[in-house]
Amino acid sequence: MNHQKQLLFASANRHKLEEIRQIIPAAYRLSGLNDYSVHEEIPERFDTFEANATAKASYVYKKTGIPCFADDSGLVVDALDGRPGVLSARYAGEHKSSEENVSKLLSELTGIRDRTARFIAVIAYQENEKDVLLFKGTIEGTINYTPAGVGGFGYDPVFIPSGFDKTFAQLSPGLKNQISHRAKAIKLFLQYLSEKG
Ligand code: IMP
Repeated sequence: MNHQKQLLFASANRHKLEEIRQIIPAAYRLSGLNDYSVHEEIPERFDTFEANATAKASYVYKKTGIPCFADDSGLVVDALDGRPGVLSARYAGEHKSSEENVSKLLSELTGIRDRTARFIAVIAYQENEKDVLLFKGTIEGTINYTPAGVGGFGYDPVFIPSGFDKTFAQLSPGLKNQISHRAKAIKLFLQYLSEKG
């Protein structure tokens, strides 16, 4: 008999799903949106990572009734009052490339010496009808003056994590996945699941 508990990741991103499947406790059977009839884009229209992640998890929980988690993440730059923030994925406009987002960021930082920034990831877990739990991971760093490296995605070529002299795109994926904002948020979430049993 299968005693695994069902857990749904409110994302159609197979890469993220597989990454999380590798580390989730064996007591849980993880599925993604592609396994259910939820194919629509869930809009991220709020101005905090917490609110966006919660909205996604709650939307999918209401549709499926299965305990469900969602993530939202982005880059927060101090000299830009926190931008791109929740707009990170579409900073240069809808359907623009990562290169265009990075170009916009670098041009806004022209002549600015304060380059401090952080990546933030928030996981929202809708466990039942009323409870939503939040797990947050942050990594501090600085924005480089030019893109460097070919690994990773998004703003990785310009983000140098504190304590390193290379961008995320120059570091190995294994190292990035140990220290990243997402890794930290996932770790806290998994710790919660493990303690719950
Ligand atoms: P989402 O959480 O998948 O919606 O991602 C938000 C956006 O933030 C991404 O499209 C990237 O532009 C940026 N972002 C989030 N995490 C990372 C990262 O680890 N490296 C580079 N960019 C990231």
